[in-house]
Amino acid sequence: MLKQTIKTFVSRLFATPPSGPVRLSYDKHGIDRRLVSRHAIKVCEVLNQQGFDAYIVGGAVRDLIVGLQPKDFDVATNATPNQIRPLFRRARIIGRRFQLVHVVFGQEIIETSTFRAPASGTQETDEHGRILRDNEFGTHEEDAARRDFTINALYYDPLKEEVIDFHQGVADLKNRVIRMIGDPDTRYREDPVRMLRALRFQAKLSARIDPATEAPITRLANLIEHVPDSRLFDETLKLLTCGHAMDCLRELRRSGLTKSLIPLIDRIFAEDGGEAFVEIALSRTDARIRAGKPISPSFLFAALLWRLVQKRWVKLMAQDVQRNEALIRAADSVIEEQMHNLAIQRRHQADMREIWLMQARFERATVRSIWRMMEQPRFRASVDFLQLRAESREVDSVLAQWWMDLANSGDERRSEMIDAWQAGHTGARRIGAGNPSRKRRRRRKSSSDTGDQAPYPASDQSD
Ligand code: ATP
Ligand code: MG
Repeated sequence: MLKQTIKTFVSRLFATPPSGPVRLSYDKHGIDRRLVSRHAIKVCEVLNQQGFDAYIVGGAVRDLIVGLQPKDFDVATNATPNQIRPLFRRARIIGRRFQLVHVVFGQEIIETSTFRAPASGTQETDEHGRILRDNEFGTHEEDAARRDFTINALYYDPLKEEVIDFHQGVADLKNRVIRMIGDPDTRYREDPVRMLRALRFQAKLSARIDPATEAPITRLANLIEHVPDSRLFDETLKLLTCGHAMDCLRELRRSGLTKSLIPLIDRIFAEDGGEAFVEIALSRTDARIRAGKPISPSFLFAALLWRLVQKRWVKLMAQDVQRNEALIRAADSVIEEQMHNLAIQRRHQADMREIWLMQARFERATVRSIWRMMEQPRFRASVDFLQLRAESREVDSVLAQWWMDLANSGDERRSEMIDAWQAGHTGARRIGAGNPSRKRRRRRKSSSDTGDQAPYPASDQSD
């Protein structure tokens, strides 16, 4: 405890800039005011008119300086939540531990928070130094010191068009350096999620992590395990959807963080073709992000873990477990193992399962099952998933394309496609017929694997 207090004291000493903040004008920061949310500017204006200080802060300032489009705009001010709220028509106070105000303008919410004090050493922590309660208002300077990296502690005054920089963050940003404010060891202990954030900003900004900031990560990686599940899941998801997912995953593995988050990944990478599959999946994720399309967490995790599901599926079938049953067992065992580390919410688990289980049905569909499959909510995602498998040469690409065309078609065209398939398959149709023998099934599968089958699914009784 004493050691921790001394460390925190030293950390704060270093966190305090020797000569106060630097004020940078447009020619130094280059922020194009036209790219700043007019609602965020409005919040600052209103607070200013009332005699308060108010700045746009954090990720938005960082991204604007390097020419990226900010995800959202946050405002920091010396007004308290109760002083902020009455100034806006639609504003609500949220948060229990630390209250802040959501100022609502149509679709856009400007998160407006009061300057906050950093860890004082007297905050309640767990036995590893993780801060459990952190809810004191503070000064502007203190607010800067409690932020994680120098590049995230920049304040933009949209009225004066000035950036206020307490920790030489603009220089670090221009040099592409991720540097922790204060003593990195202490700050990671206070909040281990900062390790994930360091890796994310490194990948997102093509930056390097300053050696002193990077050094403790491998040693402290296991502290991630004490972070509450939902927060950990959110930050991991942010990491995998920052537009550079594979770089992030490689860094996670290098620093040992996957061991506490997704240890199965290490095993998947060790499998033949495992890394390639993940790479294909993640490059598609990155492409979607770049195109501004949404990412579904369940699809992402389904793709990350698929190769292990598939391996277990094949193994169980080799032990004579029925095909669908084998896939169910493989899927459940992988989900259960994953849950020991990074817990995935139940609704995402259910979707992952659905995407995986439908994979067994694409190759063996019947007329009846095709219509039923199309009614399932995760049908589209499952067809997308099939494309991934085709791209990694795990299934026939003609088969995957047939399903993709089906998914993209309207009802009329779907009927035609299914009729055409049925007509071409009357002899082989097995609705109402007995189960095909194992030998015949195997024969059919191998013909589809070599791609010499017609461009439609083989029929089967397995549904
Ligand atoms: P993004 O582009 O993902 O939104 P961001 O830096 O804005 O990146 P947020 O999670 O939105 O990330 O946080 C806003 C700001 O709050 C950060 O820029 C940083 O100043 C501060 N912050 C966020 N998380 C932490 C943390 N774990 N420790 C210290 N400061 C943090
Ligand atoms: Mg942000």
